[in-house]
Amino acid sequence: MTTTIRNVRTSSGGVTTTEAVDVEFDEHISTVRPAGTVAPAGGPVVDGTGQFLVPGLIDTHVHLGSPAALSSAVRAGVTTMVDLGTHPDSLVDEQRRAPGAPGLLSAGSAASAPGSTQIARMGFPDASGVSSAADAERYLDWRAANGSDLVKIIIEDPDATDVPALVVATITALVDGARSRGLRTVAHVVTAASFVRGLDAGVDILTHAPLDRPLPDATVRRMAAQGTIASPTLVMMRAMARARLGDRADAAFENAVESVRRMHTAGVPVVAGTDANETPFAPVRHGEALHEEMLLLRDTGMTNGAVLTAATDGAAAAFGLHDRGRVEVGLRADLLLTTGDPLVDPAVLAQPGAVWVGGTLIS
Ligand SMILES: [Zn+2]
Repeated sequence: MTTTIRNVRTSSGGVTTTEAVDVEFDEHISTVRPAGTVAPAGGPVVDGTGQFLVPGLIDTHVHLGSPAALSSAVRAGVTTMVDLGTHPDSLVDEQRRAPGAPGLLSAGSAASAPGSTQIARMGFPDASGVSSAADAERYLDWRAANGSDLVKIIIEDPDATDVPALVVATITALVDGARSRGLRTVAHVVTAASFVRGLDAGVDILTHAPLDRPLPDATVRRMAAQGTIASPTLVMMRAMARARLGDRADAAFENAVESVRRMHTAGVPVVAGTDANETPFAPVRHGEALHEEMLLLRDTGMTNGAVLTAATDGAAAAFGLHDRGRVEVGLRADLLLTTGDPLVDPAVLAQPGAVWVGGTLIS
């Protein structure tokens, strides 16, 4: 069944068109032509006059939650999620099959040191503990056999915490082994020193931002030179600062904000992620948190266009999702209809008038 949206402006890839177009799609977008030139194909017809068609949003850091949490996120415009830690793997498969589910990439169980916080306290299996560079192959075979789309690595900072930490040689073996299997790596890093460990190992995407101090310029320059991508999860860093640091929370969060400012200014691609989860420890709400994250990114000095890219085409590129992220013929029909131009005010994205996932109307 082909849906036709008539007379709509598009906002995609950092550009809002001045002329309206007609757009047709099934699971993928099949037509984008000047308004008034397309005869509807017999399916639903939507009058887009005065509205904007925007690519569905991508949250590059979530943990799967209840089906209700995920479906409310889809209604809030999040059409793709990158799950960076869920156990068991059967939960990922279940969520993927649910009607109206978002597109889902999943790492399953993150790699961490044996006896890590993830294993000892957060319920991840012993098999996710990686004891050495040689053991990395066992872990990666296990992840690949269970359908992981990418590899998540917990990089702790031995100088900042007593919890068991992976050594750089093991992290490097995980990164190299993942790359040889065609999988990208994302590492959890929450101190400036752990960013350096991630860079030493060649991790593709570093997630979170330090609260202890802003990232030094040398680290940021190295990220830009190595092509490392940042998913800072400011909304989670603010929640962590408030939960743990009392009246030092604001100053600590400002360190995270300053790091994002430095990364973006240096040309490091910054993508939008939230660490959305439903644990009681530091809950962050799926869906609405991504809208908050976009506004926090804007507050660091990113333009509205850069913020929208961080949650659409930039996020897609970071994870090799070449089939989505823009309103363009041939790409997946993951689409939002908004009443305002997101390049004028990204807050309009928080209440889309309609959402399609792979061409299926959600709300
Ligand atoms: Zn996380």
